[in-house]
Amino acid sequence: MENFEKFTLRPSTVIGFASCERSWFNNFVKGVKSINSSKAMVGTAIHSAAEYYWTGCIKDNTKLDWNMSELQEYAMDCFLAGENVVYESGENEQTCKNKIFNGTSALFRDIIEYTDVPLKTEYRVTMPIEHPMIKDISGTIDYLGKDSIADIKTSGAKYQPKKAVVQQSIYKMLAEYNGYTVNNCTIQAVILLKNSTYGQVAEVQTNLGMAEALIESIKLKLHYYYNMKMEGKLSDEIIEDLLFAGNPGHYLCDDRFCPSRPTCKFASVSTQKIQCDFDLQ
Ligand code: SF4
Repeated sequence: MENFEKFTLRPSTVIGFASCERSWFNNFVKGVKSINSSKAMVGTAIHSAAEYYWTGCIKDNTKLDWNMSELQEYAMDCFLAGENVVYESGENEQTCKNKIFNGTSALFRDIIEYTDVPLKTEYRVTMPIEHPMIKDISGTIDYLGKDSIADIKTSGAKYQPKKAVVQQSIYKMLAEYNGYTVNNCTIQAVILLKNSTYGQVAEVQTNLGMAEALIESIKLKLHYYYNMKMEGKLSDEIIEDLLFAGNPGHYLCDDRFCPSRPTCKFASVSTQKIQCDFDLQ
């Protein structure tokens, strides 16, 4: 009988299940490593400067003056510590450094300047789950206020808060499970455009029902997977194809975002179709 090591479901990954179930399965059940894209690394670096600053403020329970060069340097070091970064088209180390420099400045100038000291920053909240394969659902809240939570994001265009509904609904659920009140969820977005960089605070209307439904779909699929594997009547390939189909039409089905693409049968089906349409013309 196969032994499954239970894993932790992360709020930021639940929406990935709706994008492509096969990619989600490969990543979280089979352990295929995700791609360290330069875009994500820039976001993490800018984000680290806020965490560094807020940690000092929380300790002294007051909003401290900041030294922008020190914060930019801190963010830069975080970026340079990243390994195997995959640069997107038109990007290189210098363009990423420029974004980090400008983005850190915009985050403090346009957002942190007007934000109160949080109760906690980078605060882990967890809720246990009864499931043969999932241990719990757990995530880190960037900013936990008196009755609010906020998440820092970077974006190449004006931020659309609807993109964060599932993730923020789960963070709210977890914060409340851990005894905090959440009346307000926001995204503190740093918008990195070609000719300008600015901060935007966007309120997110949470939808707990939608988030719970997605979590239930994941639990149900993994229950079927677990039972079929335990029965041992079907091969792994058949079980995986039956339960976790790919979604080649999704914009994340791209070499830059999906490490499974070179061997994914769903992606090659879509390529064959495009080739066939072309031949008929
Ligand atoms: S290559 Fe496309 S279809 Fe296949 S797992 Fe990745 S995103 Fe899904």
